Amino acid sequence: MRPVAARVFAADWVLPIASAPIRAGAVVIDARRIAWVGQLAQLPARWSTAPVDRRTGVLTPGLVNAHTHLQYTGFAHLGQGKYSGFEQWSFAFEAAYRAVTDPGSWAESALAGARQAVAGGSTVVAEVITNDQARGALAECGVTGIEYLEAIGQVEERWLDGSRADFVARLGRPATVPFGISPHAPYSLDGAVIKDLMAIAADHQARAHLHLGESALELSLYQRGERHMLDIYGDLRDRFDLVRRGGAGQDTAAYADSIGVLVPTAHLAHAIYLDRAGRDLIKRRGTQVALCPRSNAVLGLGPAPVAAYLSEGHEIAVGTDSLASSPSLDLMADVALLASIAREQGYRYGDLAQRLLRAATLGGAKAMGLDGRGYGTLVPGGPADLAVFDIEVADQPVADALVARGQGSCTLTIAGGVIRHDAADDVSAAGAGRTDGTLGD
Ligand SMILES: [Zn+2]
Repeated sequence: MRPVAARVFAADWVLPIASAPIRAGAVVIDARRIAWVGQLAQLPARWSTAPVDRRTGVLTPGLVNAHTHLQYTGFAHLGQGKYSGFEQWSFAFEAAYRAVTDPGSWAESALAGARQAVAGGSTVVAEVITNDQARGALAECGVTGIEYLEAIGQVEERWLDGSRADFVARLGRPATVPFGISPHAPYSLDGAVIKDLMAIAADHQARAHLHLGESALELSLYQRGERHMLDIYGDLRDRFDLVRRGGAGQDTAAYADSIGVLVPTAHLAHAIYLDRAGRDLIKRRGTQVALCPRSNAVLGLGPAPVAAYLSEGHEIAVGTDSLASSPSLDLMADVALLASIAREQGYRYGDLAQRLLRAATLGGAKAMGLDGRGYGTLVPGGPADLAVFDIEVADQPVADALVARGQGSCTLTIAGGVIRHDAADDVSAAGAGRTDGTLGD
């Protein structure tokens, strides 16, 4: 590959995340990697002739959106609504999903979503893929992540009678970013199917990602086999193992553990309805949560126990979820809501903003197993992924200012050393220079 000339990006503040904020900071990008991070005034002589792109505001690592479904970007009308709970929303969602007759529309929808995510500063995405037509959108926008191939609505009998073979065939299709495996949720798949999916993931050294504790009704299914959770499946509802045997007599986290999903290579979306024992169990297992507060609010769910996760020492991540349940794919809007929920829940420590910014960057990278490759932080040798937020810091701590005012303020997104979004000249994500977008380049 032809080397790209080194370039300096400077901002009022640089937040490397893994180290202290730098006032009047700068980042050197050379050959698509970060070559140096520090104060612009200390720029080493070897880059003194490199062009400097000066920006107002705060420069951070590219954000990590740790839970979304970009293929549902076309369902934005659903995410603009208000619901009385998960079940009411899921009926509306199912109707919209069944009404899609052109599978090609998933590709368009996913691409539109990827562009929106990039415009909000995200450069790494945990993308759940239900329909394979949606694969490829991240690479198309020059960003990366993991495409978690989803299995949903399977009882063991049907799984073994063809569905399993269909699923395994998906793993062999051409991929533009690494694939992961998403057993949708422990309520929508028999436990035996989930165990099998986790074994398939382990065989392929693939990450796993699933929904857990999103509905208040899940517990009644795992404990006693109550089937309201499964009403959207019609007649299939009564063939689920948990319904047939009257539940597992376990709460949500204990049941999830019994079917093998609480492992360090998996992360959980939502994790609202987990009590202290459940949270402690997932922490002991090394399984992270990705909180999606705006999606939870749209569905009329309770807030996740944000303050508890933080004060109990969890490394958390943040996701937008999809436009089918959220007003936008701007991750910083979820960070702002997490901060206000944590304060309402009594979190009083001064590190709240730093910890939430870490969740939206390094925490997400860890949840996806990408931190070892330098994602989620600004470090020499790491991937040249960064975002700039044009905000006024004034005399507030910079992290607090960014959490409060970051949403809607992303003016620059760089991924793989290439500008993917620039508010100054309105460069569209895909038009900014297509590259392979894979992690292995
Ligand atoms: Zn989801």
